[in-house]
Amino acid sequence: MSETTSQRPDVVVVGGGIGGLSCALALSRKGLRVRLLESAAQFGEVGAGLQIAPNCTRILDDYGLLDEAKTLGVVPANMIMKDAVDGQELTRLDLADLEKTYGFPYMVIHRSDLHGIFLRACQRAGVELLNDQRCVGYENTDRGAKAIFADGHEEEAEVVIAADGMHSVARKLLVDDEPVNSSYVAYRGAVTIDKVRSNQVSETDVVVYVGPRCHFVQYPLRGGEMFNQVAVFQSPKAVAGEEDWGTPDELDAAFEGMCEPIQLGLPLMWRDRWWRMFDRNPILNWVHGRIALLGDSAHPPLQYMAQGAIMAIEDGWVLAEHVGAQQVQRTADGGTGIDWDSALTAYNAVRPEHCRRVLSTGRVWGELWHHGGTKRLQRNAILRARDTYDYTYAAWIYGPTALTPEQEPPLYPILPLDSIAVSEQEAAAAPA
Ligand SMILES: Cc1cc2nc3c(=O)[nH]c(=O)nc-3n(C[C@H](O)[C@H](O)[C@H](O)COP(=O)(O)OP(=O)(O)OC[C@H]3O[C@@H](n4cnc5c(N)ncnc54)[C@H](O)[C@@H]3O)c2cc1C
Repeated sequence: MSETTSQRPDVVVVGGGIGGLSCALALSRKGLRVRLLESAAQFGEVGAGLQIAPNCTRILDDYGLLDEAKTLGVVPANMIMKDAVDGQELTRLDLADLEKTYGFPYMVIHRSDLHGIFLRACQRAGVELLNDQRCVGYENTDRGAKAIFADGHEEEAEVVIAADGMHSVARKLLVDDEPVNSSYVAYRGAVTIDKVRSNQVSETDVVVYVGPRCHFVQYPLRGGEMFNQVAVFQSPKAVAGEEDWGTPDELDAAFEGMCEPIQLGLPLMWRDRWWRMFDRNPILNWVHGRIALLGDSAHPPLQYMAQGAIMAIEDGWVLAEHVGAQQVQRTADGGTGIDWDSALTAYNAVRPEHCRRVLSTGRVWGELWHHGGTKRLQRNAILRARDTYDYTYAAWIYGPTALTPEQEPPLYPILPLDSIAVSEQEAAAAPA
């Protein structure tokens, strides 16, 4: 064992995604010795862009990382929702006003850039970062908890944080569940900006086209040098129960008949990989003794709220705030003196309910985006009537992250689709 890994850590974090790294950073900032173990041979992220809302940039600012994120990402001017069939605008958020309202920007950033920001911050903070470490089990012990690895070695600490993603080994300690198949699949594609300049794109906005059983997202990345697109659709093969679903032939068919900017964007999607979209049903207990779930291991969402990575970052911040409310007071045997039971209870009291709301809303939001026929017309009428500066649907999510259940704001009202009358003629003319 090297010199840096010779001292027993206070906290072991399993998983070096955005959730694990950001939690390791948050806890090390409170004076804890953190060791993070990742199964992959190298730290990194696969994929393209991430939207990060004020409830995340507020935390990045607290960590002193917001300026770096702004340098690497883009602060767009607007978030615009359009109808995918006719390309008409439905509603928009003025992101400069949103920043004024919530105090922090709404940003887009390449996921490997955000991951890199946390990785470097962990290195600076002295987090021990170990690769090629596949965790196969977790157990509580007299002194805290331990994670057990495929090579047979064990890592014990006062607390073990399982940030091991959607297919978490630790989650099985709390619930016997399986990922839920949404039958939707995402294609991504990030290209240099010159490749899209003639494609009727906005280089300064996040644009989301919503259509029957599909949607298409576009936004600039990396200071505007790159452009990110995400194409999401329901796979007929998945609906039919076939194994091989979400394939590129289905991508083309799903967007047939959608507006021109989408047709121009589709050829730029990566066709050699795609992301089948699963979530899990929310669970309201993430803590098993001194083992706690964090990030996608606790709450893998459908991404319609664009809050998955954000929730993971909030989890670590909230846990660290509850730890920081106490003082680390080293005991003779090197312990932290932290009352972990109370910190974990406080964490478990607030985060699962918040994430339950985001997961459930994500499913509802997905349905809303993907309506065809009459419901699409009703949705469009409500969204067109929305005042740009009305934050009814955003307030519960973009404000300060709640540390206690009392601070959690009320959930937004459901869109009253049935309040909109649609004539038989209009309904008959609308694509199903
Ligand atoms: C198409 C798409 C678009 C999205 N857009 C957004 C967005 O705009 N905004 C947003 O906030 N979120 C978005 N998300 C969600 C977001 O990407 C995830 O919620 C987030 O990355 C989860 O981070 P995590 O660290 O919890 O999990 P992961 O990223 O899954 O990391 C888990 C880590 O643990 C490691 N690991 C797994 N098992 C083990 C093991 N047994 N032992 C050791 N290590 C292990 C893995 O290798 C990995 O590094 C999107 C997701 C998708 C699919």
